[in-house]
Amino acid sequence: MLSKTIQDAITEQIKHEFYSAYLYLSMSVHFEANNLPGFAHWVLQQFHEEQAHALKFIDYIHERGGKVTLAAIPQPPADWKTPLEVFTNILAHEQKVTGLIYKLYELAMAEKDYPTQLMLGWFITEQVEEEKNATGVVEQLKLIDAKGTAVLMLDHQLSKR
Ligand code: MG
Repeated sequence: MLSKTIQDAITEQIKHEFYSAYLYLSMSVHFEANNLPGFAHWVLQQFHEEQAHALKFIDYIHERGGKVTLAAIPQPPADWKTPLEVFTNILAHEQKVTGLIYKLYELAMAEKDYPTQLMLGWFITEQVEEEKNATGVVEQLKLIDAKGTAVLMLDHQLSKR
């Protein structure tokens, strides 16, 4: 059985995962509106991944005999000036999420909740990947000047994900 402390903390994280999904969906519709379908596709994949993260936490609470209560999801931003601004936002957001996962892990250690520590190991590995992927696109975008050609080439590349 999960302690109430851990259940409440995971419940809070479920909200953050759904917010992440919502943020990526907002970015996807933004790119669609700006005629960059490859960028839209890339962030839409993230939208699906974040929903899977939320469901993974929900399944875990059920496995441990707990009860899930869903919270309200805050409204995400809707406007960005450039693709670089979007991906800089993504990287900062993923770094924040990594911090939240670490806090959760520290709580599970303090509570001597070993199954929760093992479950969170998957998320720690996942966050390494998320930060690496976002950093990769940020660095490529930094190489691109204001000319549209290179942005269109990267758009094509991102559509292949
Ligand atoms: Mg996530």
